Amino acid sequence: MSDRVLRGSRLGSVSYESDRHTEFAPRSLTSYDCSQRHETAVPFAAEADIPYTWECKVCGTQAIRRDAQAPEAKAVKPTRTHWDMLLERRSIAELEEVLAERLAVLHEHQGQVKAQLKADAAKTRKKSA
Ligand SMILES: [Zn+2]
Repeated sequence: MSDRVLRGSRLGSVSYESDRHTEFAPRSLTSYDCSQRHETAVPFAAEADIPYTWECKVCGTQAIRRDAQAPEAKAVKPTRTHWDMLLERRSIAELEEVLAERLAVLHEHQGQVKAQLKADAAKTRKKSA
């Protein structure tokens, strides 16, 4: 082979380090069970914060750690909707009043539009007559 040829390998694909003289960090095997009763064993470093759930390696659903209690559910703050915020400011009776006011304004406007249309129709009738 010509000494001008560069030999290489893909970046990151191969490690030339050997496991010899290497001491692995202490590990523990954690078992997870999914609803289909598949067991998934995952090695974690001894000091790792072991998750409560893991993906089942057989069916891909959520598997639950065998040796742990369910973590305490965090207190979830209920989301306030626009309606909730409105109810904090006004009572239903007040809202009924506001609604009636707005409807009256709308009806008045509607009446004006109808009258305008009537007047316009009368004008065009006069013109065409
Ligand atoms: Zn499974």
